[in-house]
Amino acid sequence: MADIFKGYKGGALAALKKYKIRVWSEAHVSTSRGEFKGIILPRSENDDANHIVLKLATGYNVGIAIDSIEDMKEHGYKEAHYKIPEKEFPTSPDRPNIKLLGTGGTIASRLDYRTGAVIPAFSPGELYGAVPELADICNLSTDKLFAVFSENMGPKQYITLAKAIEKEIKNGIDGIVIGHGTDTMHHTAAALSFMVQNPPVPIVMVGSQRSSDRPSSDAALNLIHATYTAAESEIAEVMVCMFGPTSDEYGLLHRGTRVRKMHSSYRSTFRTIGDIPLAMVERGKITHLHSTFARRRNDRNVKIIAKFEERVALLYYYPNMHPDIIDSMVDNGYKGIVIAGTGLGHMNKPVYPAIERATKAGVAIYMTVQTLWGFVHMFVYETGRDMVAKGVIPAENMLPEVAYIKLGWALGQTNDLEKVRELMLTPVSHEITDGEPYNGYLVYQGGIPEVEEFLKKFHK
Ligand code: ASP
Repeated sequence: MADIFKGYKGGALAALKKYKIRVWSEAHVSTSRGEFKGIILPRSENDDANHIVLKLATGYNVGIAIDSIEDMKEHGYKEAHYKIPEKEFPTSPDRPNIKLLGTGGTIASRLDYRTGAVIPAFSPGELYGAVPELADICNLSTDKLFAVFSENMGPKQYITLAKAIEKEIKNGIDGIVIGHGTDTMHHTAAALSFMVQNPPVPIVMVGSQRSSDRPSSDAALNLIHATYTAAESEIAEVMVCMFGPTSDEYGLLHRGTRVRKMHSSYRSTFRTIGDIPLAMVERGKITHLHSTFARRRNDRNVKIIAKFEERVALLYYYPNMHPDIIDSMVDNGYKGIVIAGTGLGHMNKPVYPAIERATKAGVAIYMTVQTLWGFVHMFVYETGRDMVAKGVIPAENMLPEVAYIKLGWALGQTNDLEKVRELMLTPVSHEITDGEPYNGYLVYQGGIPEVEEFLKKFHK
């Protein structure tokens, strides 16, 4: 009997028993906060004993406090099985060979009813079972390197990934797809852009904002677009492939050093910053937006520089920042600091002495802008000039996260601050550009017809 209330205990168990509601039943719950209809999920290990968890038709899970429950009725019962059917991936000598390297994230996830959370699951057979279209595009093989949400990615994982990419390229692969959580995909994309230089094939990072158990999931389409790009694209660079507009019309290919996650929940969250995206991708079609890109080649001459100094920090400036923040970084042995300053690259006067102490102690300090778009200009105002005099180096139009990753990569190779400066200010993969295009700032940031159409539906 206890099994039908799987995991529930305390007040929640008593409530389910009282109203004779089983786990997996479809229930109508009347509460002091309104009516809810959905499926009673097994209770998460980490939930307290005073809530029941309901999966709504929208795909969202809600916790309902038992003391708000006025009535519950069971309407149906269907135990869910979340195992994805595995099928052997069909191969053909006519199709390109693509490797999918899995790191985790929502793209590789299904719901885990033990914890109630989304957990990674990944195998080629599962992928083919879930997205059979992949077999029309390529011969896919997979390697699960990690199964983590992307906040857990870091230098060790970047290095493992770079070496795995090298191995695949040397083995003759036609393209690489990397499944990754979206939250820090732009950090990893930057790390790979620096660590994997001159790749002969496309390296396409992909993720999904919504897990595949939700009707609005972007997982399958993103994967199809990314796999098609890896198989057919002429662009041999590190790229991110995700939804372009809010609808599922096309994906965009963003350069690994110019991309950023810009919305916590939109599927169209990734935007190219300081430039325009490389290309649009639809099923079976890639439309180039950018004319300059590194082309696919047949050779295998990739250069791997898989190095990273972990004592590097990214400091987001805010008014009233106190100098002790910088002092404590120096005291704790940090070798490099990237500052995201205000406007053209500014900080308040009270931190200047700390900046000077840091640079004199041999800490490399680079300035970027919080505005994301545009260049650091430290010679316009007195503030900027003062900071340059104290040893701060303007990082041109490198995005703050990209500069942070690049500084870790540069300091991983040398402690000679002149060489670090040279590495930092010599573009490897468009992380510094000559200028930002006049048509970059507003295009794809809203103001395009499909975004307007979409917004009109909600804001009448
Ligand atoms: N938190 C997840 C991650 O970055 C979100 C996602 O995959 O989209 O791993």
